[in-house]
Amino acid sequence: MPSRPLRARKTRAAIVEACRWLVEAGLVQGTSGNVSVRHRGAMLITPSGVPYERMTPEDVVAVPLEGDGMRFEARGGNQPSSEWRFHFDILRARPEVGAVVHTHSPYATAFAICREELPAAHYMIAAAGGPTIRVAAYATFGTQELSDAALAALEGRAACLLANHGVIATGPTLERALWLAQEVEVLARQYALALSVGTPVILDEAEIARVVEKFKGYGPRRGERAKGDAAG
Ligand code: 13P
Ligand code: ZN
Repeated sequence: MPSRPLRARKTRAAIVEACRWLVEAGLVQGTSGNVSVRHRGAMLITPSGVPYERMTPEDVVAVPLEGDGMRFEARGGNQPSSEWRFHFDILRARPEVGAVVHTHSPYATAFAICREELPAAHYMIAAAGGPTIRVAAYATFGTQELSDAALAALEGRAACLLANHGVIATGPTLERALWLAQEVEVLARQYALALSVGTPVILDEAEIARVVEKFKGYGPRRGERAKGDAAG
């Protein structure tokens, strides 16, 4: 009888839908990138090397977060994403994280190739938790070394770049992690354009700290409804 993670139908469907959105948004293509979501003591993660257009909810692999991550439940011959180590290590080390999205989005990856962190050229960098989006030291894809480097670069941040590779974005929910993955790409694009226009002015740390605080109260207040929405 399938265990709970294998029955997580809604989350599996949401992961496949997220992958299709990432392709449409131009943040991944082919089989690049991967997505994981925390689900009841397990990590649900995209399978390794399965093209997004062919991926189905049943292809998603379940890895218990207890133990060493080497045991997993998968249908057919699927294996968890080759990057399961950093997804697993982030979800274990960061209880506030509910989802991890990895992309090779072009502009952010260009900075990762130059091993240049993203500075506070735009105040929206505060969405990643601080005044910079760091670049994790280079390590071969799928290795524990890459996971260790990623966790170090993510210290106090919700996103980082991976040298000569791509981006990791996290969030309390899958929706937030997807949003941040796109936001990182937009920040990189804006900064690249600014560099081609002139000399970007970088905001100071105190301003970004203010914006980080301001974001905590930004958007609709929880529990408050618009007038006329009482029936909803
Ligand atoms: P997977 O298909 O194994 O998830 O690998 C894609 C990738 O981006 C590796 O870094
Ligand atoms: Zn990758």
